[in-house]
Amino acid sequence: MRRLFGVLACLLALGGGAYLAEREAHASIDGVSFEGERAERGFSANEATYVAVRSERTPHGPTESARSTDGSIRRDERRETTRREPLTSDEARARHGLGEAFADGLVLTGATPHRLILFTFDDGPDRRTTPRLLHHLDELGVRAVFFVTSQRLHEPGARAVAERAILRDIVRRGHVVGNHTRNHRQLPLLDTPEVLAELGGTERVFEDELGGRAWLMRPPGGSRSPRVDRVIADERYTQVLWNLGTGDFQVRDADSVVETFIRVLSRRELENGERGGIVLMHDTHDWSVEAFPRIVGWLRDRNCQLLEAGEELYDIVDDPTFFFAPRGDAEPGAVAPMARPDPAVIARRQAALREATAQRCGRLATR
Ligand SMILES: [Zn+2]
Repeated sequence: MRRLFGVLACLLALGGGAYLAEREAHASIDGVSFEGERAERGFSANEATYVAVRSERTPHGPTESARSTDGSIRRDERRETTRREPLTSDEARARHGLGEAFADGLVLTGATPHRLILFTFDDGPDRRTTPRLLHHLDELGVRAVFFVTSQRLHEPGARAVAERAILRDIVRRGHVVGNHTRNHRQLPLLDTPEVLAELGGTERVFEDELGGRAWLMRPPGGSRSPRVDRVIADERYTQVLWNLGTGDFQVRDADSVVETFIRVLSRRELENGERGGIVLMHDTHDWSVEAFPRIVGWLRDRNCQLLEAGEELYDIVDDPTFFFAPRGDAEPGAVAPMARPDPAVIARRQAALREATAQRCGRLATR
């Protein structure tokens, strides 16, 4: 059965993004369904000015004003319109890292007609592979979301100590973390107290190491059911799926991961008009860590051609801001619409990207 799940999860992971039919084998017990799975470096001079809304809360968490339109927690330029207290840089980093601005959202699939790319890494941290990935991310100036499975972090011993330190390092470097459960079990097969225990196990580690819970979660294997969607929504999580699978858990070499990414990206565009989205990778595999800088390199090379052609460029974003939509009164499990950020924001980001890309590609051309 585990194998069947694996196969289904694999097939769906590549083509993810659509709400697929219920899986027959378990539809009768739980209506199980599957759904397919930055240019600044680190926190710099701006870090001490990150603020979060402390006074403006609805019963459902932070208000819209906690979120910016340009990919980060709003900075203090809006302090005059909302009452805010400045946070220390550590507090601000932890808040950003826990994704508090993304509570209570619709289920995110990554669907977008824009060339916005968000990288996500699941199942870590792993002391053998995650530190190298963090190095690549810093080198490339990219921020990502890490969906943490905490099973190993609860075990006694040096490995857990090392991996808890890596978890803190992920947030210190400006990435966001999300809950990928404690034991990576298919949630629809568990009863509700077990689902809560799976979420709670990872929350405990986040609270111990980061001082709070996370607000993003990714269901293992992308497997969902209406009942589990409701449990997750009651816990005020935003579920993050993906539309750009890399198949990195099915292969053992970086070439295959890069090729699959490119193939899936172009197929998404042809079939669904989705030109960007949320990329699923795993920071637990050597070949994924090796593939990551190659994928970023490919996107940046492609940008040289796109610039030439006068097309929209690939824009690697730092967090789910552009994909996020508040759930409001929608049913738990309701899926976010295609992400169409404010055209003015896209235009501003594209203008900056074109300038940087022209310089970079010009340098390449004259070498
Ligand atoms: Zn996983």
